[in-house]
Amino acid sequence: MGGTFDPIHHGHLVAASEVAGLFGLDEVVFVPTGQPWQKSDRGVSPAEDRYLMTVIATASNPRFSVSRVDVDRGGPTYTIDTLSDLHRLHPDAELFFITGADALAQIVGWRETDKLFQLAHFVGVTRPGYQLADADLPRGAVSLVEVPALAISSTDCRDRVRRGRPVWYLVPDGVVQYIEKRGLYHPGTAGADELL
Ligand code: ATP
Ligand code: MG
Repeated sequence: MGGTFDPIHHGHLVAASEVAGLFGLDEVVFVPTGQPWQKSDRGVSPAEDRYLMTVIATASNPRFSVSRVDVDRGGPTYTIDTLSDLHRLHPDAELFFITGADALAQIVGWRETDKLFQLAHFVGVTRPGYQLADADLPRGAVSLVEVPALAISSTDCRDRVRRGRPVWYLVPDGVVQYIEKRGLYHPGTAGADELL
């Protein structure tokens, strides 16, 4: 499961758990992005902070792990690179790429689509407020999955921290404490949205 994870929240974790159950996955590997071009309009928190929050959030689940491939490669993350690296590291694994319905809508715009679909099966999960659309997607390469609706987004979590409102129970307890400890999402911090 790829994402910016700035911060990781319970929407991500529920989606991963639901897809793992439905597809009988042995493991879900969370892959925090490097500097994502999609979000160049705001400062994204340091990759090391996003990586560590993802580790904290997934530590208690023996079937969840975190990969550094995109963080260590640096620069903008392209899904083709993520999947190529994971395939190289796990040559015998059947890969599934889990992504949100909003991201899935851009799937046909991605570069090297044919290669992508050779490397992995794509699973798009619903999130509140987004319509699923499977028109124009290669049949058999993409599955759409409805997950229990959780109207949580990282954007809202950052906004809450900036306004001094609680994020308890929206993100795992350890992530609340990590955000506080590192002073993430306060005005002037990398990762704080510029909409004061
Ligand atoms: P931001 O608000 O900064 O865009 P986000 O909450 O969308 O953050 P990402 O790290 O961009 O989090 O998400 C990674 C993937 O998880 C995306 O494909 C996204 O659509 C999906 N996702 C995020 N929140 C939910 C949710 N509540 N339910 C289902 N999928 C979600
Ligand atoms: Mg998003």
